[in-house]
Amino acid sequence: MRSPVARNLALCAVAASMVAVGAAAPPTAAAHGPGGAGGAARKAPVAVGYGGAVASVDADASAAGIEVLRAGGNAVDAAVATAAALGVSEPYSSGVGGGGYFVAYDARTRTVHTLDGRETAPLTAGQDLFLEDGKPLPFDAAVTSGLSVGTPGTPATWQAALDAWGSKRLPAVLAPAERLARRGFTVDDTFRAQTAQNEARFRAFPDTARLFLPGGRLPVVGSTFKNPDLARTYRELAREGTGAMYRGDIGADVVKTVNKPPVAPGSSYPARPGKLSAKDLKAYHALFRAPSKTSYRGLGVYSMPPSSSGGTTVGEALNILERTDLSKASKTRYLHRFIEASRIAFADRGRWVGDPAFEDVPTEQLLSQRFADARECLVSDDAVLKSPLAPGDPRHPGACGKTGDKAAPTTYEGENTTHLTTADKWGNVVSYTLTIEQTGGSGITVPGRGFLLNNELTDFSFAPANPAVHDPNLPGPGKRPRSSIAPTIVLDRAGRPVVALGSPGGATIITTVLQTLTGFLDRGLPLVDAIAAPRASQRNAAQTELEPALYDSALRGKLEAIGHSFKANPEIGAATGVQRLPGGKWLAAAETVRRGGGSAMVVDPGR
Ligand code: GLU
Repeated sequence: MRSPVARNLALCAVAASMVAVGAAAPPTAAAHGPGGAGGAARKAPVAVGYGGAVASVDADASAAGIEVLRAGGNAVDAAVATAAALGVSEPYSSGVGGGGYFVAYDARTRTVHTLDGRETAPLTAGQDLFLEDGKPLPFDAAVTSGLSVGTPGTPATWQAALDAWGSKRLPAVLAPAERLARRGFTVDDTFRAQTAQNEARFRAFPDTARLFLPGGRLPVVGSTFKNPDLARTYRELAREGTGAMYRGDIGADVVKTVNKPPVAPGSSYPARPGKLSAKDLKAYHALFRAPSKTSYRGLGVYSMPPSSSGGTTVGEALNILERTDLSKASKTRYLHRFIEASRIAFADRGRWVGDPAFEDVPTEQLLSQRFADARECLVSDDAVLKSPLAPGDPRHPGACGKTGDKAAPTTYEGENTTHLTTADKWGNVVSYTLTIEQTGGSGITVPGRGFLLNNELTDFSFAPANPAVHDPNLPGPGKRPRSSIAPTIVLDRAGRPVVALGSPGGATIITTVLQTLTGFLDRGLPLVDAIAAPRASQRNAAQTELEPALYDSALRGKLEAIGHSFKANPEIGAATGVQRLPGGKWLAAAETVRRGGGSAMVVDPGR
């Protein structure tokens, strides 16, 4: 009998032949004229072909990556080019004012590497960063403030990735994004809706309003949105290198803005100042880390280790699920097991994962099968675990369910960022999630620079969720807030890529990556269908979130009969991925509907 992966590859070959005709024609340079690259018309969620592939949420961004691949660049070059273009067309989710995590597969050595480009807290920050009069600040007040802005990690990530694994220099990979910022992109429904969602607080910051509310109004769908300030910023980074952020003019402007957020006089947004300094910027480094690794049904699953909780939490849940044959399970049993594995992994994440420079994180033990087995035994097919569930002890797994700690609920995190996946003709692959945290970040645009500052530090716990339990995610000087980002690359036994994927969505990233992986690897879904499948998200809470297609289905009743409780969530995540097909072929896949659909492209669709 063929393994689920083998079956899946066969299925995908069929899917590939069905979509090839409708796949996006590769863009020409001329397509990037004023008014954008005609995103909507060319947007396709699947593309199959040769020479490399790019999947992102946006057609102009995917086109930037393809352009660099065409010019001889590799997957790393294409990932940076795509990310820079997303900074233009997805400015509310990513940009040089934020951070992210970069996972790269090197085909020559068949190894996976990662870069932690997470934002850091100021060196002056203490555990009380978000306390006022001893009480946690309201979440929204913290978001829209200088307090939440961490040292941006994205420019350093781009430079470190290019230096380590790229074949092009920064100016070459920034060029398509610089052009996109200068000439503009076509406003779509999602961009307008995200602007509308932010309108009130954007108006509080005149520089943000000038940029994102042109003429004082929401951008009109179909109009051209230009960002000449960002084009200038990209030119400066190209000319002077990323030192312009960490030791130069751009950084000086960031520091000034954080310390005195340029808020409109009389605004109802107090926009508390932050304490980011030139010293923080100078001290910043993107960090090379060994990837998290777990084996799942004979495959190697590589992802982001702490400071992100993505790799350990997805990995632990996979280890738990490995004890069930998900390929044969009914839909109800599959979802039940998926929900319970997520619940357990989140209980352990909350207790054990934080920035490893500050916390003693048992990464290896969290990913051990022994620990997973000591947790899996809690799951039964006819009952639901109670949340919040107490964490286990990965260092001393002990008997089933044995735990020394009290339960703590999962703290709230915002839910927006962007993921991209690239591959090249040499077989290299990149899975890269970058973020400014909330949709619109802190809402504060650096005057004259054309980009928003992140609010990543709100990913810290403002105070321990349960004062009786150690919280590894409290703020600290230079500390990285715990992330959920999980850019993942799966390798076969020979060390060749099978699939790479990731998603935005704050803490739901973990459940989205887990569900998409099991959909693809176990349930035999073609990648694009695994991405499109309606999502559930359980994060050690009493209720599991369901997208409408699940919430309104008969499945919900069947799961409720076991004891599950649900609430609706209109949309969870926005994944992209690439799959290696035989013969040097790639399949790129993105969302079909969420966030207006994503954009998959290949260099050469072939016949
Ligand atoms: N701040 C989130 C994290 O690092 C990512 C942003 C998001 O997807 O919402 O986990």
